[in-house]
Amino acid sequence: MASALRDTGPSAAPANATTSDQLGTKYGAPPSVLAGVPSDGARLVVVNVTHPDFLSQKELTWAAGHEMAHLEPGFKDEMINGYKAYKFEEPEERSSSDALPGQQGLVNPDHLMQEAY
Ligand SMILES: [Zn+2]
Repeated sequence: MASALRDTGPSAAPANATTSDQLGTKYGAPPSVLAGVPSDGARLVVVNVTHPDFLSQKELTWAAGHEMAHLEPGFKDEMINGYKAYKFEEPEERSSSDALPGQQGLVNPDHLMQEAY
């Protein structure tokens, strides 16, 4: 994951700028999405440049790293009781993140990002 983030060569995964409207139209994503990896298998990260957090270096860095963990090595968001283990989202998702067993934390994108910060 870290090497993929540092890769600026021709084989690096691109980050494509998009808007909330485009994310909704093309991927069915809500406007609250800052960044994502397309579910169609495309090897890229899409970044919503109309999202308010696009202007926050901290939020954008976290989102890019999180999405890269989905892309390479392909980790998914771990879940507990049906809630994704996110560090900073809804209360149920934060609780899921806090309760995530260590082994699952080793492959959960937000836990990996926490280790990077
Ligand atoms: Zn995720």
